[in-house]
Amino acid sequence: MSESDGSAVGWAQFLSSIPDGALLIDATGHIHLANETFADYSGYSTAELEGLSVECLVPERVSAAHALTRERFADGVQRRPSGRHSHLSLVTKDGAERDADIALSQLDLDGEPMTLAIVRDLDDLHRTSLHGDSELRYRLAFDISVAPIVFTDDRDRILAANDAFCDLLGRTRDELLGQDSTSFTYPLDLGLTEASLERVRRHEVDAEHYVKRYVHRDGRVLVVEVARRAAYDASGHLLFNVISERDVTEERSLTAQLAHQALHDPLTGLANRALLEDRLARARAKVTRQGGFGAILMVDLDDFKDVNDSHGHLVGDQVLIAVARRLEEVARTADTLCRFGGDEFVYLVEGVHQAEQVRRIAERLLGSLEKPFAVMGLSVEQHASIGVAIWDIESPDDLAVLEQADLALYEAKRLGRNRYTVFSPSLDQSHSGRGHDLQALRDALSDGSLSMHFQPIVSAQTTTAVGFEALMRWQHHERGWIAPSEFLGLAEPTDLIGELGAFALREATRAAASWSPALDGPYVTVNLSARQLFDPELTGHVRAALAASGLAHHRLVVEIPERVALEDAARTSLVVTELRDLGVGCALDGFGDGLASLAQLLHLDLRFVKIDRSLVRPPTDANLHDALVDVIVTLGHRTGIDVVAQGVETPEDLDRLRQAGCDLSQGFLFSQAVPLSEVNPLMGTPLGLANAKVNPSSMSAIQASTTSAS
Ligand code: C2E
Ligand code: CA
Repeated sequence: MSESDGSAVGWAQFLSSIPDGALLIDATGHIHLANETFADYSGYSTAELEGLSVECLVPERVSAAHALTRERFADGVQRRPSGRHSHLSLVTKDGAERDADIALSQLDLDGEPMTLAIVRDLDDLHRTSLHGDSELRYRLAFDISVAPIVFTDDRDRILAANDAFCDLLGRTRDELLGQDSTSFTYPLDLGLTEASLERVRRHEVDAEHYVKRYVHRDGRVLVVEVARRAAYDASGHLLFNVISERDVTEERSLTAQLAHQALHDPLTGLANRALLEDRLARARAKVTRQGGFGAILMVDLDDFKDVNDSHGHLVGDQVLIAVARRLEEVARTADTLCRFGGDEFVYLVEGVHQAEQVRRIAERLLGSLEKPFAVMGLSVEQHASIGVAIWDIESPDDLAVLEQADLALYEAKRLGRNRYTVFSPSLDQSHSGRGHDLQALRDALSDGSLSMHFQPIVSAQTTTAVGFEALMRWQHHERGWIAPSEFLGLAEPTDLIGELGAFALREATRAAASWSPALDGPYVTVNLSARQLFDPELTGHVRAALAASGLAHHRLVVEIPERVALEDAARTSLVVTELRDLGVGCALDGFGDGLASLAQLLHLDLRFVKIDRSLVRPPTDANLHDALVDVIVTLGHRTGIDVVAQGVETPEDLDRLRQAGCDLSQGFLFSQAVPLSEVNPLMGTPLGLANAKVNPSSMSAIQASTTSAS
C-alpha cells in the first residue's frame, strides 16, 4: 500500500468504527479495504476480501449489469445521489444469497477516487426489532435529522453528510464529500474550524461549540452554531468527528432587529426613551469625569392635536416623521435626538463648553421648523416650543435634569409658544408656572371645581341615549373652564394623574347609579390615561368604585385610547381580560390609525370601538375614509363589537354613518357634554338637531381655552 500506508491505517480504523459492514472500493471495482463486520457477514476474511472484485459478491445473473452500473457510477455518467440506499442480493462465500441494503458515497483517498459502501444485512435487520437496534436508530436519525450533521475524518474532510447539511449549504453530497469546509467558509472565519479540530486532536476538550459563518451556494452568508465531538481509538488517535450544526442566521438578524426596535421609535426611527435614558446617564458620567456641560432640549410641538383633529392620524404621523427629519438635519452627530412620546422630542447635547452653544442649537432646531411641511398634498404649519436644561458637574440626577427641561418647556408654552426657555431655579418654585398650576389642580380635586360632565352616546337608528361618556371639566377660579387636554397633560407625568383617574371612576359610577338603579339603565364610559391602564391597581380601583356606587358592573365601560393600546398590546389584552372577568366592558377610543392596528386590536375582548373624529368628518379624501369606516364596521360586527362614531356634528355625518352600518353615535349633533344635573332630560327621547345643546356655562369657555391648550 505504497505512500498511503499511514492513512490506510486510519481508514481501516475508520471502517472498523462503522457498526455496519463497510467496504472501500477502488475505481476498478476491487475492494481496497473491508471491515470485520462485512467479513463476518460475507463469510470471507478481510484479507480475502481485499483485492476481490465486487462482482464476485453479487449473484452471477446480475454480475454483468452490476459491473456496468458500477462503471457508469464511477465515470459519473449515472450518478446515483451519494449516500442514497439501494437493495441488492449479496452472495456469501458459501454461496448463500442474502438481502442487503447498500449506501454508496464517493470519497477521495489521497487523490484516488474511492467508493465507500456501507452494507446492512436486511435479513438480519428484519429479524432485529428496531427497539434493540441502536445502530439502526442512529443511522435513521442521521438520515432524517433536520439538523445538519456531518462526519469528518482526522483532517476534517467530510466522510458523510446528511440531507439537512447539503440543504444548508445548497450543495450536493458529491460536491461535499472528501472536502474540508474551506470552500464554503466565510473568508473571515477561515481558521476557526482548524483551531477547533486542533483542540480536539490534542484532547484539550471533549466537545467544541462555536459559531461560524458559511457561504451558501447562492452567495448568502449563513451564521451557524457548531457542535463537534470526536471519536478516538484505544491509543487516543482521532478517528472521526461528528459535527452537528444549527442555522441561526434568521435568529441572529431578528435579535439584532429586536435590539434596534427596543431602542428606536418605530414611526420616526429616532432613538426612543430607553436609549435616551442610557445616553443621558453616560453623558452625565462623562461630564463628571471630564468637566464641561451637557444639555437637554425638550422639544414639544405646538398645537399638534389640531393637526390630528383636523387632518387625521395619517397626516399627523407624516408630520411627525417630517419634523423628525428636519430636526435631524440640524442635529450634530455627537448628539442624540429622541422621540420622547407623542409629539415630544428630546435632544441631548454633549461636549459643549458654553451655554451660548446650547442656545444656538435651540435656535437652529426652532428655525428648522419654520417652513410649512408638505404632507399628503397638504401644507401644514408646525412649530414647537423648547425647554432647555443645562447641567455641569454639580447638577442633580438624570431625572431631575429631565424635569427641569420639562418645567422650562412649560414656561416656553406659557410665554406664547414657538420659542425656547432655559431652565432657571426660579421656575422651580411652586408659586410660578407649572408648579403653581399643578397645585391648583390638586386643590380642585377636593374643592369641587373639578367635576365630570356627560355626553350622550346614542343609538344611530333611534338617536336615543344608550349611554354617556364621562368627560372631566375643571372650572378654574380665574381662568374659567379648562379643557381636559390642557390639565391632563399637566398631570400626566406626575402622580396626580392617578388621583384624577380614580376621581373620574368614582364620580362617573356614582352618577350612573343615580340615573337608574336598574340593571338595564344607560351605561357610563370613563376614559383611561396610559398611566392608569398600566397601573397594577387599576382593577382594584374599578372594583372599589363599583362597590361604593352600587352600579351594576356591566353598566361601566372604560375607554382605552388606541395609541396607548398599540404601545403595549400584550399588556392591554391582560387588562381587558381582567376587567371583562369583572363584568366591565372595554372600548377602544379614538380609533383612526387604519386597518393594521385594527387587526392587531380586534382580538381584544372589546365592547365597542369608537371611531376617531378624523374618520367621521374626513378632511381630505372622503371616499377613502368612508371605505375605512365600512371595513371597521364589517370587521367589528363579525367579531361582535359595536362601532361608535364620535364627533358627529351634522345630519349629513349621521346619514353617512348610518349607511356604513354604525351602531352608535356621539357628537354635538345630539348634545355636548353636560353637568350631571342636566343629564335626565337627555334620557328616553330621540336626540337630534333640536337637542344639540350647547352648555354656555362650560363649552364656549372650553372652546376658547382649547385654542391655547397644548
Ligand atoms: P375623547 O375621549 O376623544 O373625548 C371626546 C372629545 O371630543 C371631548 O372633548 C368631547 O367634548 C369632544 N367632542 C364630542 N363630540 C364632538 C363633536 O361633535 N365635535 C367636536 N369637535 N368635538 C366633540 P373633551 O371633553 O375636551 O376631552 C378631550 C379629551 O380629554 C378626551 O378625548 C379624553 O381623551 C380626555 N379626557 C376627558 N375626560 C377624561 C378623563 O376623565 N380621564 C382621562 N384619562 N381622559 C379624559
Ligand atoms: Ca373618549
